[in-house]
Amino acid sequence: MKITRITVWQMDLPLSAPYWLSGGRLKFEELDSTFVRLDTDQGLSGWGEGCPWGETYLPAHGRGIRAGLEILAPVLLGEDPCALDHINRLMDITLPGHLYVKSALDVACWDLLGKAAGMPLWRLMGAQKAAPVAVNSSISTGTPEEMISLIQKASAKGYRTHSAKIGGSDTHADIARIEAISAALPAVEKLTFDVNRAWTPGVAIQVLNSVAARDWIEQPCETLDLCAQVAKRVPQPIMLDECLQTFQNHLEAWRRGACEGVKVKPNRVGGLTKARQIRDFGISVGWQMHIEDVGGSALADTAALHLAASTPDEHRLASWLCHDHLAVDPVPGQGVRNQDGFVTLPVAPGLGVVPDPDLLGMPVAIYEA
Ligand code: MG
Repeated sequence: MKITRITVWQMDLPLSAPYWLSGGRLKFEELDSTFVRLDTDQGLSGWGEGCPWGETYLPAHGRGIRAGLEILAPVLLGEDPCALDHINRLMDITLPGHLYVKSALDVACWDLLGKAAGMPLWRLMGAQKAAPVAVNSSISTGTPEEMISLIQKASAKGYRTHSAKIGGSDTHADIARIEAISAALPAVEKLTFDVNRAWTPGVAIQVLNSVAARDWIEQPCETLDLCAQVAKRVPQPIMLDECLQTFQNHLEAWRRGACEGVKVKPNRVGGLTKARQIRDFGISVGWQMHIEDVGGSALADTAALHLAASTPDEHRLASWLCHDHLAVDPVPGQGVRNQDGFVTLPVAPGLGVVPDPDLLGMPVAIYEA
């Protein structure tokens, strides 16, 4: 099979409510998403989506993806999309780094591999059956009362795991949030306090030794060095997210004992091929992982959750659904959807999400052999 055409669409995805991270220093209202379709000489087409969470969350932005596609797409024309390791090596030689630019192309190749093999992606990734995957909420930073109210609304929709966004320079405000939320949460529900890099190590050590926080603390400081310093001096298990991009970053985090778990997000690490390598490494070193994407519609969510569904229970924590925060739905009703706290993966070959191009508007670029 050969790739004969790559079509690119851009779509703004407004959030249904403004969202604050990192103690309120980062605000998000709209995401810039890029959809790609790879057509082939055998009549099969594969879809992928790349959608950074705004421009301030990671060193990634929507226009950056489309600029990268101008370099990568012409090189992939004529190549076999089922040769995934070859495709990834080609992308890495053509454009070193820029991992987030490559994920939509890699996912579209996985979609084609699944369609060619007649198997859904969870099966290609090693699962025997499509186990239901628990989903987790994502709670914007606010006062303790505002955050507890958002958690209760999420609980009413079936969510039993919550990621509460905290962090900031006001140590007392974070202690108050952690204590109030921990006290209000029913014992059967699970919680992560996601600091999104906001603390210095001194603040992290001070706050985390002052509270009886349950469950996980995520990405307390900006860098792996700083997080490793914190991990040695606090009682809670540490989850890392933004500071890990390459496989080598993950290896270094394990060597230094900097975390007990990681977030595995295809768009952050360069696609499903690289995310799967990191997931498998995580299993081998005993990590627990939240497997989900950085952002996007139900298409991006579904791609990431195929990997989650093929991950053993003891290593898989709940997955977040970005599309639950959006005011628009470019793939209406398709892919993974929350049903009382769980999603079920599609059984159709490939990704199991096929956008209607009419709903995506006019393409912004077409690359042809
Ligand atoms: Mg996070």
